[in-house]
Amino acid sequence: MNGGKVQSEILQTLRAAGYRLTGPRRKLVDLLLQAEAPLTAEEIYQRARQARAQANLSTIYRNLATFCEMGWLEALPGPSGERHYQVRSADEQRLSVMCLDCGELTTLKTDAGGPFNAVVRDLGFSAQSLRVTVAAHCEHICGRKAEAK
Ligand SMILES: [Zn+2]
Repeated sequence: MNGGKVQSEILQTLRAAGYRLTGPRRKLVDLLLQAEAPLTAEEIYQRARQARAQANLSTIYRNLATFCEMGWLEALPGPSGERHYQVRSADEQRLSVMCLDCGELTTLKTDAGGPFNAVVRDLGFSAQSLRVTVAAHCEHICGRKAEAK
């Protein structure tokens, strides 16, 4: 259920805005679309390198900022302030849990946001979308790491 933008749409938007569709830029769009979770610029850079795309970190930062301005990419704050990027989804609601220790951001597939929407509606707002990030301590990842020590 991915209601977000597809690659062709994004590439078209870029072209319309006057951006050249260079190989690295296409690759970056692909990486962002394929990401299973929000990624930091550093993680995106590592993946671009693994994919043998010509990339340097400052170009990636610049492209990410451009994509955010264009509106199809969004930056979510991580635990220590670093930004995590993800393609904006047309999903009406998204709940994420962010680990305060390791920074792992997990998007939940749930419609538990329904009650929030109801509250917002009761206050007289017409809710278009709902984004909730729960800050927590993840035991499944951090706990495993601790055990391994
Ligand atoms: Zn954790």
